[in-house]
Amino acid sequence: MGKTTGFLEYARTDAPDRPPEERVWDWNEFHQSLPSEERARQGGRCMDCGTPFCQAGIAWQGQVLGCPLHNLIPEWNDMVYTGNYTHALERLLKTNNFPEFTGRVCPAPCEDACLCGLGGRAVTIRDNERAIIEQAFARRALSRPRPSRSSDKKVAVVGSGPAGLAAADQLNHRGHWVTVVERLPRPGGLLTYGIPNMKLPKDVVFRRIEQMTDEGVSFVTGLDAADPATAQRLLAEYDAVILCCGAWRPRPLGLEDQGVSGICYGIDFLKAAVERKVFGLDPAVPTAAGLHVVVIGTGDTASDCVATALRQGCASITQLVRRPREDYLDAQGNLPLSYAHEEALALTGRDPRRFSSQVQSLETDGEGALTGLITSQGDRLPCQLLIGATGFAGCEENVCRAFGVQVRDTVCTPPGRCSTNVEKVFAAGDMRRGQSLVVWAIAEGRAAAAEVDAYLNGYTSLVAPGL
Ligand SMILES: Cc1cc2nc3c(=O)[nH]c(=O)nc-3n(C[C@H](O)[C@H](O)[C@H](O)COP(=O)(O)OP(=O)(O)OC[C@H]3O[C@@H](n4cnc5c(N)ncnc54)[C@H](O)[C@@H]3O)c2cc1C
Ligand code: SF4
Repeated sequence: MGKTTGFLEYARTDAPDRPPEERVWDWNEFHQSLPSEERARQGGRCMDCGTPFCQAGIAWQGQVLGCPLHNLIPEWNDMVYTGNYTHALERLLKTNNFPEFTGRVCPAPCEDACLCGLGGRAVTIRDNERAIIEQAFARRALSRPRPSRSSDKKVAVVGSGPAGLAAADQLNHRGHWVTVVERLPRPGGLLTYGIPNMKLPKDVVFRRIEQMTDEGVSFVTGLDAADPATAQRLLAEYDAVILCCGAWRPRPLGLEDQGVSGICYGIDFLKAAVERKVFGLDPAVPTAAGLHVVVIGTGDTASDCVATALRQGCASITQLVRRPREDYLDAQGNLPLSYAHEEALALTGRDPRRFSSQVQSLETDGEGALTGLITSQGDRLPCQLLIGATGFAGCEENVCRAFGVQVRDTVCTPPGRCSTNVEKVFAAGDMRRGQSLVVWAIAEGRAAAAEVDAYLNGYTSLVAPGL
């Protein structure tokens, strides 16, 4: 412990976000970093409490407290304080393949479990993590060669989101030959096509893919493994297959069968926004530009849709939230604002949320195009684009059918394991766990890699978190 009294002397200082009235006009990352002296002080706030619940990742009353990856948080907090970033990186990479993703988008359950937070404010664990990895990228200190001896075993990972990437990274560094198969043109899963650029810049994702490619992982994009012939070929040619296809099947809105145009799901809207903005394509899903937009739902996806619609230049934005306002108040009785709500307030002067509100009926023009809706409170809202962000119902079943794998919304595996009913086929990430978080997807990928390594070698030395 570098600074015994750090938590008494230094207040928590969060790295600033760019002001909402400025950032809403661009797609650049809004979370910034602290100067290195202040970052050191933030590391020095870690109390060496002796019971680091922050890294425990324990289930309690239906939630997980602490880091699901069991990141060695007090160790690297201390090294951030003493400026030993080389050693901090080594300890961080022992448990987390991609701190540059979690350091940006993790909701940081570690900070909720931080003992410093009992009598004051928690240590800035997530920002410290991000500082360590960004420093390493800046120093070009990351590249690891493949082991000199190869196992000569071949593993196919289907799906290139954080679960597939973590599994591939682990197995590559154990000396197996890994090919990642992705149906979309670019790898990254929801890191690329779901989470918007202002939260997770795409160059941060592609930088990692490039590094993995340099280290020996093969990426095959534009190949859909739900095609039975492709599935059979993967089964025949590889010693193990890990399915990491995510959970992209949206929960239905119940409005889809009315033949109305102008309704889409959040995931399709966000994917189209990335295709348009980052890849210069012209997808079929419309932009919100000039349209009256209503988003249904709460949570990350709904917020990301609001923020994206604002940046695209929507004519108005409303978010319908089914539950009452009281359900969302914090312990102090305040209504928390997501980054998207801050931006809507800055741009339009009002919080876009309407609580206890659902869609009662739709209005269309003579050609079936959406023009407005009536809410359950009886209000009429102009609406030309209705975006459903009410969560996900599970994984797509066609890929499971192609591999003969049992599925009940998610792939069926024994508790805490990644094996399936089919010999040499494993599953991980949202496809096994259900829609979750990047940190859990990485944990799942690491656990699947350890199981596959043991399956191929008869033993494993890979460290994996419990699922
Ligand atoms: C809009 C949105 C915002 C989010 N924001 C956050 C956040 O801020 N913080 C956070 O922690 N989590 C967030 N999440 C959740 C997080 O992104 C996911 O939990 C995580 O990406 C799951 O990782 P995964 O690897 O299991 O699957 P995914 O990231 O979904 O990747 C699955 C991949 O498999 C591919 N695939 C599917 N079928 C096939 C097939 N048949 N053949 C080949 N490839 C296939 C898909 O194209 C995709 O690339 C968000 C989710 C969404 C939708
Ligand atoms: S991965 Fe998430 S929970 Fe784990 S230390 Fe980082 S911010 Fe905390």
